[in-house]
Amino acid sequence: MTAAAPGRAPVDAPLLAVGGVQGYYGLAHVLQGVSLTVQPGELVALLGRNGAGKTTTVKAVMGMVSVRGGHICAAGHDVVGLATERVAQFGIGYVPEDRRMFPGLTVRENFRLAALGARVPKGEHAAAQGRVLEVFPQLEPHLDRDASRLSGGQQQMVAVGRALICGTRLLLVDEITQGLAPIIATEMARTLRRVADEGLGVLLVEQNSQMALELADRVYVLDQGVIVASGEAAAMRADPTWMQQYLQL
Ligand code: ATP
Repeated sequence: MTAAAPGRAPVDAPLLAVGGVQGYYGLAHVLQGVSLTVQPGELVALLGRNGAGKTTTVKAVMGMVSVRGGHICAAGHDVVGLATERVAQFGIGYVPEDRRMFPGLTVRENFRLAALGARVPKGEHAAAQGRVLEVFPQLEPHLDRDASRLSGGQQQMVAVGRALICGTRLLLVDEITQGLAPIIATEMARTLRRVADEGLGVLLVEQNSQMALELADRVYVLDQGVIVASGEAAAMRADPTWMQQYLQL
């Protein structure tokens, strides 16, 4: 881990600190005081039933939801009220639930567009793509194929690769394993664990609570826009009452 650049938060500060966030879609008050943190090197899972507000929480960090109370500090920057592109430029990678491959664009072009969007200087594009291929060497033979015609698992790798391309420090991942074959989902989950072990912060929204608990360092459970439980994943795994109460496992 390198020392923080001037103006950035110190390295032991959370990469993401969400405090008392009130999030709205128009008049609909969805997030009702959500607080959570992600440290460098940590994989944190955000769990909860459908409609609990998990996606909205991630979107609030990315400037896609109206935040009318609380604070969000990401990679040392106060991001409330900033445009999504600006947030991304602080090294915040976002993999939305819908992986959105543009038809007709090759894998290489996907990475180039992501690098342009993140304002990676042109001379550094090849190195940035090289770093993504270190994470997903499986994509190397497919660089010149239409990304929208790859398998679901490969498309998900491209989506994560795009989010990782800009010297990412914090990765926000929404329902990445949905619709993937179990073996591919497990492989993707292990990759995210490795990415966190290498020092990035990862916030993972996941429907598969069992898998998230296996993978994560810490867990938050959301219900109706409120964090109703949080703690170390290992302690939660060992407590069937907790699992039953919050996750109906
Ligand atoms: P899921 O797993 O179903 O995606 P979630 O926990 O991610 O669930 P959110 O997508 O954050 O839940 O939705 C939280 C609440 O906000 C739900 O009641 C949902 O209907 C509502 N909601 C989501 N998107 C919008 C929108 N664009 N406009 C208005 N309400 C929305």
